Amino acid sequence: MKIEEMTRADCSGCEACANICPRNAIVMIRDVEGFAYPKINRKLCIACGRCDLTCPALNLKKKIPQAFPKVFAAINPDEKIRRHSTSGGAFTALSKIFLRGGGIIFGAGFDENFHVRHMSAKTFDELENLRGSKYVQSQIGDVYRQVSGALKSKAVLFSGTPCQCAGLKNFLGVDPENLLTVDIICHGTPSPALWECYIGELGHGNEISHVNFRSKRDGWSTSNVEINFFNRPRYFCPLNKETYGKLFLHGLIERPSCHRCKFKFPNGQADLTLGDAWGVKNFAPEMFDNRGTSLILVHTSKGKKFFEHTNLRVRQVSLPDALKKNPRLIAPSIADPRRGNFFADYANAEDKFAVIQKYFHKDDKTLRPQIDAYDKLNVAKRYQSIAAQIRQQFEKNILVVISSNEQKFFANYFEQQFPNCGIYSLQPQEDKFICLEKFSSIVFTLKDFAALNDFAKRFNVAEIFAERSLIIDSPPIKNWLDTCNLPIKIFSRANDSA
Ligand SMILES: Cc1cc2nc3c(=O)[nH]c(=O)nc-3n(C[C@H](O)[C@H](O)[C@H](O)COP(=O)(O)OP(=O)(O)OC[C@H]3O[C@@H](n4cnc5c(N)ncnc54)[C@H](O)[C@@H]3O)c2cc1C
Ligand code: SF4
Ligand code: SF4
Ligand code: SF4
Repeated sequence: MKIEEMTRADCSGCEACANICPRNAIVMIRDVEGFAYPKINRKLCIACGRCDLTCPALNLKKKIPQAFPKVFAAINPDEKIRRHSTSGGAFTALSKIFLRGGGIIFGAGFDENFHVRHMSAKTFDELENLRGSKYVQSQIGDVYRQVSGALKSKAVLFSGTPCQCAGLKNFLGVDPENLLTVDIICHGTPSPALWECYIGELGHGNEISHVNFRSKRDGWSTSNVEINFFNRPRYFCPLNKETYGKLFLHGLIERPSCHRCKFKFPNGQADLTLGDAWGVKNFAPEMFDNRGTSLILVHTSKGKKFFEHTNLRVRQVSLPDALKKNPRLIAPSIADPRRGNFFADYANAEDKFAVIQKYFHKDDKTLRPQIDAYDKLNVAKRYQSIAAQIRQQFEKNILVVISSNEQKFFANYFEQQFPNCGIYSLQPQEDKFICLEKFSSIVFTLKDFAALNDFAKRFNVAEIFAERSLIIDSPPIKNWLDTCNLPIKIFSRANDSA
């Protein structure tokens, strides 16, 4: 397929094609929804084919995960930086390493009209504008070319959406040691034209002095949009109750490709992924103070090297725990069924702001639970498919039959002893068995021995480790182990031996 044959839902608007074109024959033109798509000027084009070969959507580098990546909850110890960052301030901690060494940062910032563009920062002052999430598709312009130029003499940190990081990697064609790519857990990016219309309406006359999509005035858990003006009181409203924010979170105004995103884990190309550690209160409560906690996924050894050089306070957490409240890492957001009508009305309207307001007020109370239920199902399916791919990569899967009060100790013990294995812990409870995957909180309930046998077969369990006290105290377990025909090793905490 060629880029000109792609549908609108295929093209993420990463602009790699426009950056690679040796004749500058590709311009990005906005459609009626306000998203930019490539248009080739046939008079300039020499049919070299480089655009087609560079497009990350056409040449998706699918990854088969070897294991779940290492995931961390992280907090920047500098409270001022954390206050002005969206999550825990991980982006600034990474950027500091580069700026201190004379390197350069590329990321999404506001221009003088509060339109969102990729730009560079060479100083701590310039970095301020790149800090903070902008819930708008950022225009790349010629930034991939700028990155390529900078890499000749400097260390570069490039930060963007997963599709932009993939676009940059394909544009460069190599992965130089002095480049760190950092993407975000990406809900999707709304229409730039719609944002420009919205901000134009709120701040006509250039009265706006500052925009923050995720103000922490009421804490991190309650995301508020805060817009400051030179000569009027500030606009301050929860993101999910605010006009633009609600349309974004409800899937009405994101780019079509976002609802079919190809760059979710494990197919992202970046060294590190940053996000919000939503739900951290439940899985690492010591990392929660409602002032912002980052989630960091380490994908490569280069990413690990830079991550370990930051001054972040970190705590390792499990991917399944992190996923519970952050499904966008693995699954695209669901488009609101009214999206088509919304954009048709928006495209045809003279007063576009009125259309935005109308859909904000439209009641979608019956629709939301249906969309949420579908979303949940989609995420669960996606997780199972990723987990199945990972299971296939393991040397073997083992089952650890364990009492629940020893869970934590044995989780550490077995994860260290069997790093390349899939590990399931099985806890017998009155009339059922609770099974946890990789000692995480992904829980299955297995009702009887037939289900246990089926589980062992389906998950290719190669070996069983059973806690001695359970064998002695629970005849049913002993019966099952005697009949299951799998190699069994008995262990006890007393001598720590397996
Ligand atoms: C559109 C969008 C959707 C997101 N969806 C989720 C989500 O569903 N779940 C989740 O956990 N996290 C999501 N995030 C990420 C999260 O909001 C934070 O950006 C991330 O955790 C980094 O925060 P920080 O505190 O480390 O640093 P910050 O300083 O807050 O991060 C700023 C970084 O984000 C980049 N950035 C900001 N806006 C854009 C943009 N429009 N396009 C490309 N890059 C941008 C900047 O280049 C900069 O590197 C999203 C971010 C964006 C921009
Ligand atoms: S084929 Fe070559 S010259 Fe033509 S638009 Fe693509 S990159 Fe540019
Ligand atoms: S390179 Fe990016 S902008 Fe160009 S066609 Fe492919 S996805 Fe679209
Ligand atoms: S959801 Fe996917 S396609 Fe959309 S901006 Fe994010 S990475 Fe790109």
